[in-house]
Amino acid sequence: MRKILYSLCAFVALGSVQPVCAQFNLGKAVSAGAKAVKATQISDAEVAAMARESVQWMDTHNKVCDANDPYTQRLNRLTEGLVEADGIPLNFKVYDVIDVNAFACPDGSVRVFSSLMDLMTDDELLGVIGHEIGHVLKHHSKKAYKAALLASAGRDALSSGGGLVGKLSDSQLGDLSESLVNSKFSQKEEKEADDVGYEFLVKNGKNPWAMAMAFEKMQELEGGAKQSAMAKMFSSHPDTAARIKKMSERATKDGYTRPADPAK
Ligand SMILES: [Zn+2]
Repeated sequence: MRKILYSLCAFVALGSVQPVCAQFNLGKAVSAGAKAVKATQISDAEVAAMARESVQWMDTHNKVCDANDPYTQRLNRLTEGLVEADGIPLNFKVYDVIDVNAFACPDGSVRVFSSLMDLMTDDELLGVIGHEIGHVLKHHSKKAYKAALLASAGRDALSSGGGLVGKLSDSQLGDLSESLVNSKFSQKEEKEADDVGYEFLVKNGKNPWAMAMAFEKMQELEGGAKQSAMAKMFSSHPDTAARIKKMSERATKDGYTRPADPAK
């Protein structure tokens, strides 16, 4: 597993936080063919359909908590009312894995890892989810996935004509899924996702203090011992303190009261 973490897109696995259980399965890399494919050969609808296939691959190859699992029930509770994002229907699942992460996909699938849920309060999780959905709303996720399709597994299949859906192998889908899980976004995109994520929460009746609170937790983790890799990755993203300041000032200005931090 690569050492992720990034701001809210990907929190690095914090060593041995959890008892041993499954690690997130991303499949194995495949070598790419050499044929050039123009971006225009993939429609938005096809990108969405392919992203859906990649999500289904991840759902099949990782342990998904069932409907009665306390993780699922908690996620359902805190995401209640989050039904769609700009017309894209949302669906939420928990992966029972030791990695600490969460991501949202262009097809509206949101996946939260159980180990992230162990670290965060409901408000903090909502902030992460709002931010990730912000990337979907601004089409960053689609752009990243499309780039991955063009750069790797999909290239040969595309060049053979007739579209991509249903044509990729299991390992190719696994390879592509990494671009959904570990997307690297620019600082501009991160800021946009913060703003749009904030607005998404407000629109859906959630307290947008969640955004600032999620960043506070991120800052707290960032300061933790052994995570020099995490700090390094953070430095390439918008300054965490500045993000906390911006989001908390906005929530205050908009008249929201900061929720109490419940003892977990
Ligand atoms: Zn992000």
